[in-house]
Amino acid sequence: MPLQLYNTMGRKTEEFRPINPGKVSFYGCGPTVYNYAHIGNLRAYVFQDILARTLRFLGYEVTHVMNITDVGHLTGDADEGEDKMVKSAAERGKTVLEIADFYTRAFFNDTDRLNINRPDIVCRATEHIGDMIDLIKRIEANGHTYTAGGNLYYDVTSYPDYGKLAGLNLSDLKAGARIDVDENKRNPFDFVLWFTKSKFENQALTWDSPWGRGYPGWHIECSAMSMKYLGEHFDIHTGGIDHIPIHHTNEIAQSEGATGKKWVNYWLHNEFLVLNKEKMSKSSGDFLTLQKLLDKGYESGDYRFFLLGGHYRSQLAFSWQSMDSAKNARKNLIQRTARLLESAGINPAEATGSLSAGNLGSAAKRTENFRTALEQDLNTPRALSELQTLVKEGLNGTIPPADAVKAVAAMDSVLGLRLLEEAEGKAADSTSSGAEFFTDEEKQRIEALVAERTAAKKEKNWARADEIRNMLSAEGIILEDGASGTVWRRIPKTGV
Ligand code: AMP
Ligand code: ZN
Repeated sequence: MPLQLYNTMGRKTEEFRPINPGKVSFYGCGPTVYNYAHIGNLRAYVFQDILARTLRFLGYEVTHVMNITDVGHLTGDADEGEDKMVKSAAERGKTVLEIADFYTRAFFNDTDRLNINRPDIVCRATEHIGDMIDLIKRIEANGHTYTAGGNLYYDVTSYPDYGKLAGLNLSDLKAGARIDVDENKRNPFDFVLWFTKSKFENQALTWDSPWGRGYPGWHIECSAMSMKYLGEHFDIHTGGIDHIPIHHTNEIAQSEGATGKKWVNYWLHNEFLVLNKEKMSKSSGDFLTLQKLLDKGYESGDYRFFLLGGHYRSQLAFSWQSMDSAKNARKNLIQRTARLLESAGINPAEATGSLSAGNLGSAAKRTENFRTALEQDLNTPRALSELQTLVKEGLNGTIPPADAVKAVAAMDSVLGLRLLEEAEGKAADSTSSGAEFFTDEEKQRIEALVAERTAAKKEKNWARADEIRNMLSAEGIILEDGASGTVWRRIPKTGV
């Protein structure tokens, strides 16, 4: 089945056809580095990561570009309020550059911990001001701009398709539909391409431009940098759904206003992470960071696992209870994978098989289902459940363990749970009683059998007692009868 993606432009699921066969050009909007990313923001980057990994898994060569916003983003996306970077620097008594550096590093620290692959190109807005000025000149030359109060504005009425992505219809738009304090705008939907002295006198970073010394609006950086690195027409652009009505709508007006042609083929947007039914946001009181989850005893993999359990286009409700479920489910999966590795008797480093290599034997059906789940608009909950079933089948003998391990490696190249690494760590630790190898459910079953055997022995039902001992022994569990009762122990098969 060819890859199907839901395109916000047109609001339907479409077959993905890249502009250049076998290659994908992909731009994802990056963070504004004035504060830590909250776990809702991180959902957007796990989504970008899953998209890039899926495309690679399906055999595409991917160029993934992401920006870092370190100038121009105001507290309101529609040019209202203060500059986020300047505000944060003033509050913390730092320079804007110090703030940008600190939170950029914090951002990548979070994404690394979540096993999010670094994009191929990461570009900072402040390092591309010349590209933005050149693009604004083209937009101006095409008659899409006006100057008012010292700022250069994009005139949305000059671009007939304005609002297409969000399904906005300019003729229906009422003045003041957006709370807008900028009286210079002819239309409330117009937006700033270049600010000069008019907006903030205390702007830390300014540059010379044909419109006066000043700094760029937020949206222009994404148009300028994506085209610089991916060309004037590229395949995929992503962001959170909040970007649809303003940021991405304005990016399209700028890019297509400059080139006069179609800019992006597929627009993909992730839904929000919500907390108490509200979007998690940097300004809300419930600002949860990845570090806060770690401080509470979760691992970063638990949060990644939690996110994969929801489809990217569905809202996902955060709760500590659901984090606990994710943590337990992930722990179970790692424990089972550790047992699988052991029965397969292969080194995880050897298990880097790929689905296309046709070396998966009877794991092929499961891996085919996994691929299909991803091809259906990146259905990670289904893909994850195929992986869980595969591991069970590897343990119960439906699939030879060695085939199952290779398939786990291939699937995890997309899910990024570092399963084999984690399982290998477990196997190395497991020389003690081995109880940590078993899920709570399995431990309960073993303990119930041990109790049943004790009762059988009391009743002198030796046949049943032996039957239970043999059954557990076949699973690698030995029973030791002592003065204080029977204890069970796992015997590692490979002598780790
Ligand atoms: P920002 O750093 O504010 O520009 O946001 C970074 C990314 O996070 C953008 O793609 C937003 O759309 C996305 N985002 C913001 N809040 C949430 C949320 N609660 N859930 C999911 N994504 C979000
Ligand atoms: Zn952007």
